[in-house]
Amino acid sequence: MGGGPAGELAADESADRVADSFAGLVADLAAALSPDRVRAEPTELALYRRDASMLSGEAAVICFPTTTEEVAAAVRVSRAHGRPFVPRGSGTGLAGGAVPTGPRPPVVIVTTKMNQILSVDPEARVAWVQPGVLNLDLSRAVAPYGLHFAPDPSSQQSCTIGGNVANNSGGPHCLLHGVTTAHVLAMEAVLPDGSIVELGGLDPEPAGYDLRGAFVGSEGTMGIATRIAVRLTPLPPAVSTLLADFTSIEAAAQTVSGVIGAGIVPAALEMMDAVITGAVEAYVHAGFPTDAAAVLLVEVDGLAAGVAAAADAITSIAKAQGARTVRVATDPAERALLWKGRKSAFGAIARIKPNYYLHDTVVPRSQLVAVLTEVYQIAERHQLQLGTVFHAGDGNLHPLILFDKREPGVMDRVLAAGKEIIEVCVAAGGMLSGEHGIGLEKRDFMGLVFSGDDLEAQGWLRSAFDPDQACNPWKVLPAGARCGDLQDLPPGAWI
Ligand SMILES: Cc1cc2nc3c(=O)[nH]c(=O)nc-3n(C[C@H](O)[C@H](O)[C@H](O)COP(=O)(O)OP(=O)(O)OC[C@H]3O[C@@H](n4cnc5c(N)ncnc54)[C@H](O)[C@@H]3O)c2cc1C
Repeated sequence: MGGGPAGELAADESADRVADSFAGLVADLAAALSPDRVRAEPTELALYRRDASMLSGEAAVICFPTTTEEVAAAVRVSRAHGRPFVPRGSGTGLAGGAVPTGPRPPVVIVTTKMNQILSVDPEARVAWVQPGVLNLDLSRAVAPYGLHFAPDPSSQQSCTIGGNVANNSGGPHCLLHGVTTAHVLAMEAVLPDGSIVELGGLDPEPAGYDLRGAFVGSEGTMGIATRIAVRLTPLPPAVSTLLADFTSIEAAAQTVSGVIGAGIVPAALEMMDAVITGAVEAYVHAGFPTDAAAVLLVEVDGLAAGVAAAADAITSIAKAQGARTVRVATDPAERALLWKGRKSAFGAIARIKPNYYLHDTVVPRSQLVAVLTEVYQIAERHQLQLGTVFHAGDGNLHPLILFDKREPGVMDRVLAAGKEIIEVCVAAGGMLSGEHGIGLEKRDFMGLVFSGDDLEAQGWLRSAFDPDQACNPWKVLPAGARCGDLQDLPPGAWI
């Protein structure tokens, strides 16, 4: 198998395989799709330099296929012109996964026009969807059948199912229901050579290696998902949403451990600190107590009797840990408002500073208090403001470093603090990412948690799908892993 970095692809290709000009690339893509769905004007390209992370790159051309065949054609044209390509959904990724990068700007293949729900089988509880369907649109569309798509990233109004699959995304309600991989049965994908395959299947135990499992979470490095069979989950008959407020972060964290230790697995168990609740309250007016050091948003669902018992037990545990109040949402509107508050957190902090760097590590629940204490100390040492909002139930920390990038020298402090936060979490037995992925952002931290042999094995798996490193190059695996001697991030990659 080959293994050079994608940036060298063009140089390695013989002249007759590489078509002659950039204009030829645009013309061939336009012929394969349609001219209005191939864009290369500077302003249009600028819109696709970034995702929601702090990383930026450069695209050669953006194209918008509507069918699997058009995706395959776009891949083949890109390859024929010696260009790598980058799959992209809505660009809400937080790790730079959809950022086009490398010395030879890639073609960005955007799935947002592939937004059809192809079929719904309410009895089998399966829907086939195109990858550009928005997460919340799918749940809304199947709600009349009493069903929903359980993974619910806070970005669910705008992120795509294809992006969810690629990042194996989580969300508040994944504590009980599991992250995306538990809800994807099969998919059709265009591989980096332009061939079309089906991975997984609707059978309970599809034959052969679990290539579906390998593809989910591969962050767009193994091909482009073009049709996805998702598992649909019944809407719960009863739901109870509680908001508990605490005068210390420790008490809130002890409540998290107490709830799980009592054998209760809530549907969701989220924590927000004072910085976040203050910003959210000013924005959404959800009734979050702004004088609390931390609040827990807890949701239990299931049969009515079980839900009531679990809500009572959680209330008792929170009170025993010193909760000042435990408020139970009394109707769906109040419940929706509490969740709107939680899901608006990242947007709300724009009221404090114009920029944020959001981390996404996981730590063992038993280490939550110790790690959080260190995380706040790191921010203080670097004279940075920090807020935390996270899926406390599964130890998925989201420290947000708030800053104004116009302040001279601030980026150096932000990146230094970010690195220390990652190191502290890993030293506590944690992982680099709970749900946002590795992408470009954490690529060079992979060596903190994987040995050289581990990385080499992952490189071999990737190469089985993409021997030429043409698909989303530079992402996930660090320099020196088998998949090619990827260079340092290009200058100016950080915003
Ligand atoms: C405000 C906010 C809140 C968020 N909350 C959460 C959260 O609670 N949980 C969570 O997990 N994430 C969260 N995210 C991160 C992000 O929304 C998810 O990672 C989401 O799944 C990305 O979807 P997207 O369509 O925007 O993908 P993009 O950002 O466009 O792409 C993400 C990755 O997927 C690849 N990709 C996209 N489509 C395909 C495809 N069809 N085939 C193969 N690869 C593909 C891309 O190459 C890239 O590597 C949040 C982001 C924001 C901005």
